[in-house]
Amino acid sequence: MTLKDHLTAMIRASGPMDVAEFMRLCLLHPTLGYYTTRTPFGVKGDFTTAPEISQMFGELIGLALAQTWMDQGAPARFSLVELGPGNGTLMADLMRATRHVPGFHTAAELYLLEASEPLKVRQKAALEAYNPQWPTSLDALPDQPVFLIANEFFDALPVQQFLRDGCGWRVRQVGLDGQDLRFGYGPLGAQPALAHRLEDTKDGDLVELRPAAAQFMAPLAARVENDGGAALIFDYGDWRSLGDTLQALQNHAPVDPLQDPGLADLTAHVDFEALVHDLPCTHSRLTTQGVFLERLGITVRAQALAQMLLDPARKTHIAAHRRLTHPDEMGALFKVIGLVPNGTQMLPGLEP
Ligand code: SAH
Repeated sequence: MTLKDHLTAMIRASGPMDVAEFMRLCLLHPTLGYYTTRTPFGVKGDFTTAPEISQMFGELIGLALAQTWMDQGAPARFSLVELGPGNGTLMADLMRATRHVPGFHTAAELYLLEASEPLKVRQKAALEAYNPQWPTSLDALPDQPVFLIANEFFDALPVQQFLRDGCGWRVRQVGLDGQDLRFGYGPLGAQPALAHRLEDTKDGDLVELRPAAAQFMAPLAARVENDGGAALIFDYGDWRSLGDTLQALQNHAPVDPLQDPGLADLTAHVDFEALVHDLPCTHSRLTTQGVFLERLGITVRAQALAQMLLDPARKTHIAAHRRLTHPDEMGALFKVIGLVPNGTQMLPGLEP
């Protein structure tokens, strides 16, 4: 049975499902979901992420977090957390880059939040030396400072989509047209969570909400504010999102999200305004990935690495530097936001 058969049977039995439920099943259905059945990254996979492009990404993030850990008095014990670590590459680069920071590794307890069993196996292989644990939620973390990273995690959490209709909204759904899956809209209703979007939208506009994000942001921000620490959240998106950003990728090319459910990666842009709305701790300004990495000195690091490489590895490395930072590549579409406790020094590269 394919996921498409399963979704078709569900819709026949109980009617159209909203886009968030469709996205959740496509990505995380226990036996037919994209993340639960596949290992998606890399040249042979469906998409490539920043840590898979260059080791410099994880190295610079590691040094930024270690600096903030020192700025906060180098607490003797802290949770080092990654949300959705994929192959474990970013964390492995982060750990290698921080091994000479006195006390940092001894103080760090590594926690990985991961929904996919095949990816947990990969993470174990990459990070075994650091004794990682896989908690089921951020609420399970011990009472101590938390230093957290997330790259391309929030874009994989399901979004609800709403179409503006007068002063109300219609939820976007996935239903059936004969044998085929089709988008449609539910009945008109009020959406208190979208009150602020009545100002900047008009009839026919589509907006997105990501209710699952709060399950991670609320406990994270409370922990950072009360016990100390910091978070660096990278993703593609903007301060506020408008329009349909649901996107399916297969073999590095966009495909129709309804075409092969469970076989393509599904993401939607991150609305950073919604992500940091009403948090108890401080957040930085939303900054582009390119500017952030340049401020942390990626060019100097890239030149030092280039001197140790011969072609063709050198050429690949130079292309990787460009890919991470150039505005025409990932440099401008991808953004980063930082969290620290109120009244403490902002993370390097994100200072006002
Ligand atoms: N950070 C990695 C991988 C990004 S892909 C990188 O940059 O390469 C998204 C990751 O989030 C995958 O590891 C996926 O399995 C995980 N994921 C998606 N939804 C999740 C959820 N609800 N809970 C935990 N992990 C999830």
